[in-house]
Amino acid sequence: MAVQTVAGNATTASPDLGPAAALSCRECGERFELGPLFACASCFGPLEVAYDLPTGSPEELRKRIEAGPDNIWRYAPLLPVPADVAEKPNINPGFTKLVKADNLARELGVTGGLYVKDDSGNPTHSFKDRVVAIAVEAARAFGFTTLSCSSTGNLAGAVGAAAARAGLRSCVFIPHDLEQGKVVMAAVYGGELVGIEGNYDDVNRFCSELIGDPLGEGWGFVNVNLRPYYGEGSKTLAYEICEQLGWRLPDQIVIPIASGSQLTKIDKGLQELIKLGLVEDKPYKIFGAQAEGCSPVSAAFKAGHDVVRPQKPNTIAKSLAIGNPADGPYVLDIARRTGGAVEDVTDEQVVDAIKLLARTEGIFGETAGGVTLGVTKKLIEAGVIDPTLTTVVVNTGDGLKTLDAVSATSQATATIKPSLDAFRAAGLGTA
Ligand SMILES: *Cc1c(COP(=O)(O)O)cnc(C)c1O
Ligand SMILES: [Zn+2]
Repeated sequence: MAVQTVAGNATTASPDLGPAAALSCRECGERFELGPLFACASCFGPLEVAYDLPTGSPEELRKRIEAGPDNIWRYAPLLPVPADVAEKPNINPGFTKLVKADNLARELGVTGGLYVKDDSGNPTHSFKDRVVAIAVEAARAFGFTTLSCSSTGNLAGAVGAAAARAGLRSCVFIPHDLEQGKVVMAAVYGGELVGIEGNYDDVNRFCSELIGDPLGEGWGFVNVNLRPYYGEGSKTLAYEICEQLGWRLPDQIVIPIASGSQLTKIDKGLQELIKLGLVEDKPYKIFGAQAEGCSPVSAAFKAGHDVVRPQKPNTIAKSLAIGNPADGPYVLDIARRTGGAVEDVTDEQVVDAIKLLARTEGIFGETAGGVTLGVTKKLIEAGVIDPTLTTVVVNTGDGLKTLDAVSATSQATATIKPSLDAFRAAGLGTA
């Protein structure tokens, strides 16, 4: 199939995307005008947003951010969005809790400070609301009327909700065999939801075909033809973590990998904060987490390869089940450049980690969260993550969407008649 670089039939008359100046190729550096492009016309490399970032004093910028709304729009000066973005109808994600996880730290032997960035607190209960919110602004700017995506589950719900609020039509595509919680969540907002008989990589291939076809005219696929903008939403995780630590870089961050977009953009966000003087420039390490049943990036990391060999996913961590991750090679670069690592855990370890987080911190994460905490635990035990340093673990989704993972082992302790005698017999009282 030919690689498409331009897509949709949208208006591109001088879009107002705030500080975004151009798109630039991550491989050859060639620059393109802002538009619904995602691959370089010269080398087919992925495009990303290049900025004219604010030039004032760091103190001034910090104050301006702190005076902003309690959502991702406080960082509007660093995002490809118009200055009045907060006044438009959107679902305003972000500024989720950074939980100081002292109980978990004690259990894992971490003494340098352990934090959980809990993105289950977003409007549709996953980090995907961040990336979709940015893509919606690009869709508006380019005149798209239908919002779409290929999804491993959470993205479909985030697109459905954001489109509903923005007054856009939505039509989203998922593998047909997703968890019930994700299917319902994607359908309830009233857009169209299409199950594809195949895995995520099949869904994604289908969407690429649809983009080049009249059937998909005027459609903004948030993670395909709007991907350069979409990706920028993940930078807000980096901004928030640093701001919530008191404008300080963490020493170590553990991030789950599906396509690898989130991990690469968190790194981009940290680099920007350093460049802008908003945080002190010091080394940090980025760790990537995958499930063993879909671990193409982890396998490449361990083998010392620069390229990622695609896999056929088979894991309960369906939100991370991308066998051919678009940003895999960039994840490898970042893990190696920062002195981090990429590791994977079994489905059993995923379940154990979900329950560990719930039991110690009262946070019920989805399977992706189990992957990330499971890998954190494994790397601490292996001496790769340093327990004496400040560590942030990103929980990207809500356990209510993946109940099947723990339902077999999380049930009522006892079922009794409503009498004290019955309760006494169950042996659960104090006396
Ligand atoms: C999509 C998703 C990710 C990571 O996605 P990337 O494609 O790597 O950006 C992580 N966690 C959850 C819960 C997700 O839905
Ligand atoms: Zn290029």
